[in-house]
This record gives sequence, structure tokens and C-alpha cells, in this order.
Amino acid sequence: MRIPQFQNNILVVNGVIIVVWLQLCSQVAAVSNPLWILETKNTFCYNPNLGCGPANWPETCHTGRHQSPIDIQAPKVSIYKRWTHFTFNQPYTSSQSTFYARNTGHSFQAQFEEGVTPSSSLTVGGAMLSEDYRFGQLHFHWGSEHTVNGLRYPLELHIVHYNTIKYHSLMDAISAENDPTALAVFAIFFQVGEENPALEPLVRAATRSMEVQDEYTHYSTPINVEHLLPEKLSFVRYSGSLTTPPCTENVVWTVFRHPVTISSRQIKTFQRVRNDDGELYTNYRPTQPVNGRRVETYGVPGLRQLAFVTHNKGGIAIWWDRLVDILSSLLQFTQRQLSSQVAFWRQALENALHMFSSSSISLPFTDLHLLF
Ligand SMILES: [Zn+2]
Repeated sequence: MRIPQFQNNILVVNGVIIVVWLQLCSQVAAVSNPLWILETKNTFCYNPNLGCGPANWPETCHTGRHQSPIDIQAPKVSIYKRWTHFTFNQPYTSSQSTFYARNTGHSFQAQFEEGVTPSSSLTVGGAMLSEDYRFGQLHFHWGSEHTVNGLRYPLELHIVHYNTIKYHSLMDAISAENDPTALAVFAIFFQVGEENPALEPLVRAATRSMEVQDEYTHYSTPINVEHLLPEKLSFVRYSGSLTTPPCTENVVWTVFRHPVTISSRQIKTFQRVRNDDGELYTNYRPTQPVNGRRVETYGVPGLRQLAFVTHNKGGIAIWWDRLVDILSSLLQFTQRQLSSQVAFWRQALENALHMFSSSSISLPFTDLHLLF
């Protein structure tokens, strides 16, 4: 199974390290075609040869200008700066919860409560998300929906969160129109490799749901949502839509750059999921035009990444990425030190002048911090 790899070049502009991706090679799983959540049971499908296929999905799916998924093209810009860290609450990082799962006929979906309006205590914020978002459900697309330089991974996980400030439930947020921040969906790519133990409870559940559409089943083996995320949380951010009808443009997308592994046995389980018509071989929507949207890539330097350097045995591109993280962290540290020094000396100077001058003197130092 071939995967994409990247190499970075660095620019520094106004104290911000900008990393331009140079594509080394782009090789991904050549997987054929498939989705998510709505309760619109089989009113749409992924088979391009059927009337229910993507070419015949309704209205916004064709008229919208901010549709998803998209092809993420290199070279892109990585922006390494402060305040890009995610803030997961304690339940998100430690919760080992049993779950309910079902074959929706369009995907395999899991959540922590039975029913169509799931909510949980898991919240995430930070990383330029405008609000805190609450975990609602997760589901899979076999054949990734987003592509990287036109190349497709064999599997993509969508972790769906909704805006807790504005909406009482996941379904309220999904139904929201004219709100580009109603939902925050995390997309995680999978590449074929070693077994993924964090995924195994879901794989076992998918095995039991392959032929049975629309029934919730409770599974007593717990899952930890955070363990499904990549070790390194660099990501691509853009504003987009649901990838299934009605394709509402109300999603803040976070597509993590670094794939996680899944064994060929595990991925075959998802590929065997069927709907009532026996049709669901793949479930990804074709990529949509970017139409001038900002598609930004953020690196997330920090202690977690620095610690990972000593454990990672990846190739040159991965080590280069780690080096960029370290340099970025050092730069931020230096910036903070310089800023505090400037503040100290400015205050000292102002105090001295205040003591030795008349009160009518004012000094043009208020913007000094802008230098840093
Ligand atoms: Zn999805």
C-alpha cells in the first residue's frame, strides 16, 4: 500500500516559521469508491451508475461553493505559531466508554448513547476553533474522502463534534444552515500497516454489523476517542460542508496530516459492510472544487512532539518534520523571553522618566512590543 510523504522548507516571516511542503512522492492506496450520518436512509448512494449516485444528490450538493471533501494539494503552507494546541478536556483524554454502534447503510457509526441525538461529556477546543465543541459520533469512509495531491488513503475516520454554545444536540447542529461553525469534524487518514489496537473494538463491532442496517447495538468493550488520533496533531483547516446530502455548509474541517496505521485484516472488515441493497462497497464522495477557500496547514510544536522524536523510527521526511517542530519551539521560547525583557526595560525606563521629568512628557513606546 503506497502512502504520500512530504518534505518541508522553512521561511521565517515576522517571527512565524512558515513551512512550504515540497512533495517528495505521492503514493496512496488505490482504493475504489462511499459516508456519514443523516437519517435519510438510502435516499442517496455512492454508486455513480445509479440514479441515487453523487451526480444526482440534491441542491446544495451542486450549488454550494464550500463543499467537502476536497483534494489537499502540496505545496501548501504550514504555519507554526503559538496557540495552535488543541485543548481536550479530561474525559476526552481519559474516558474509556462503552459504545453503541450501527450500520447506517452509508457507513459504520459509533456513539456513546443510543439514538439520533447523541451527546457526551467529551469536549475539545483550542487550535483556532472558535468555540468548544462536544463529541457527537464517529464513522468511517472506506476510500478516504479527502485526498492528498489527488491520491486516496484506504480509510478515513470522521469524528463529529458540535458547537456546544449554540446547539443543544448534534442533530440541531447538523440541521443548522447559514452557520459555518456549527460542526467541527476531525478527519484521520489510515494507511495499511500494523494492527491498530485502539481501533479493534470498533472493528469487532463492524464485523457484527456488516449485514444488519440501522439497528443500534451496545458494545461493552470501551473505546477511547483520543487514542484514535495521530500521535502528531499537525492539521489542515478549512471551511466546508457535510459530505452527504443535504451537503449543508456548516463544518469546520480539521484534517490531520499524519496517517495512523490499520492492518489489512482490520480494513477488510469495513469494506465488507453492506446496506440493505447489498451495494455499499465504498462510501466516499468525490472531491469538490476549493473555489478560492483558505486551506491552511498548521504544525503543532510542543513537548508532546519533542518527546516523540526519541521514539520515532520513521524516514528522513519524518525526522525533518521533527526538526522543524524543535526549531519552532525554540523560536517561540526566544520570542517569549525577548518580549518579557522588552516589557521589563520599558517599564524601568518609564519609571525613570516619570521620576526625572515633568508629567507632561509622553513617550512613543506603546507599540514597542510589535517588534516581537
Ligand atoms: Zn463522514
